[in-house]
Amino acid sequence: QPGDILDALASSIDQKNDSVGAYLSYDLESAKQEANTADLSKPLGGIPIAIKDNINVKGLPTTCASKFLDGAYTSPYDATVIRKLRDAGAIPFGRANMDEFAMGSTTENSALGTTTNPHDPARTPGGSSGGSAAAVASDTAIAALGSDTGGSIRQPASHCGVVGLKPSYGRVSRYGLVAFASSLDQIGPLSKSVEDAALVLNAISGYDTADSTCLNEEVPDFTQGLNDGVKGMKLGLPKEYFGEGIDPAVRQKIDQAISGLEAQGAELVEISLPHTAYNVATYYIIAPAEASSNLSRFDGVRYGNRVEKPEDILDLYRRSREGGFGPEVKRRIILGTYVLSSGYYDAYYNRAQKVRTLIRKDFQDAYQNVDAILSPVTPSAAPLLGADKDDPLQQYLADIYTLSANLAGICGISVPCGKVASDNGTQLPVGLQILGPHMGEQNILRVARAAE
Ligand code: GLN
Repeated sequence: QPGDILDALASSIDQKNDSVGAYLSYDLESAKQEANTADLSKPLGGIPIAIKDNINVKGLPTTCASKFLDGAYTSPYDATVIRKLRDAGAIPFGRANMDEFAMGSTTENSALGTTTNPHDPARTPGGSSGGSAAAVASDTAIAALGSDTGGSIRQPASHCGVVGLKPSYGRVSRYGLVAFASSLDQIGPLSKSVEDAALVLNAISGYDTADSTCLNEEVPDFTQGLNDGVKGMKLGLPKEYFGEGIDPAVRQKIDQAISGLEAQGAELVEISLPHTAYNVATYYIIAPAEASSNLSRFDGVRYGNRVEKPEDILDLYRRSREGGFGPEVKRRIILGTYVLSSGYYDAYYNRAQKVRTLIRKDFQDAYQNVDAILSPVTPSAAPLLGADKDDPLQQYLADIYTLSANLAGICGISVPCGKVASDNGTQLPVGLQILGPHMGEQNILRVARAAE
């Protein structure tokens, strides 16, 4: 019974949340009420799903793991994905920790709590959807929703040993997701199996008049053809993704997974994505630019944190933002404002947009010859907590393999492909990334299922 599942999850959260810290909050009573009326004949009937804390759920707080919104915002409406999950019988349950406003790769930028990796408490779960990934990996959630702007579903999924899928841009409505970089953001599932990812994707996909970037395209049943195997499929190996910089142990697991797919009848094809070297620079201009604009709504007037007794309106903005945002969010706002400012706009933002077009074209060309592309998700396994604390650039560089999917608008999935030994004697999961063409989710799910 759904009520029993919720009780079991709640007691498991009580046991583990002190150590793992996947959840910022949960409301067992309201979830149980929903469970009483859940339609168990539906595809996700009675299944609780953890929700990243930047997706609005009616009646629950949305904090984006920021002091700006903590204790100051309760959503009066459901995001479209939440409405769709409910329509499929699921029960949104619990708010998963994240990097503040989804900016980061370790969940350490959360202002409201620490999440650790369920495979090694000294390490990060990845990020920014680290709470969603850690919840699924620690058996405190059956599946979760995350958001992915530059890898934030796939990378924590890889570090925590779960499946994480970033849908094609426009596949899933962003209405009710707190915007980070609107041209890159997508909501997607984190789950224990590829089949579960397909089931959740079935539920959340589809046209929505409330999001003008959501495409009016037929939603296939993503569970269909899952087990068809990879025989005869052409899988591309971009030579730029297998160069220097990958940890040799991680590389070995990726190579094994690729050989496994070849043994099942896939044809491997070496390809080139020539603009790969510009992924990081392009993303870290476009994402902060959009963020600086999106986050201007957090001004002390409309939402959340508002200082007492401001001298005037500028003082209200300045001090509300100074006290409400953490250091990484401020860094991005400053960077974004700079690249958009008059005199620099052409040199940075406009150029980045042109390079983005070239990156997208690299993929369009590649998919003329292959059905999907294989690569690592990250150059190394989960980092120790605090490892890159004073070196944001080092963290940005580790996003090299995931950013391009968002820049190109294509879909990608991370599927566990083994574990590597860490220095402190733990075994850390590694994920294989499978990138598909725009609206090619069926291809990547099929490959991921074969790699599982
Ligand atoms: N790590 C990337 C960043 O910090 C991606 C974040 C995301 O996908 N939300 O921007």
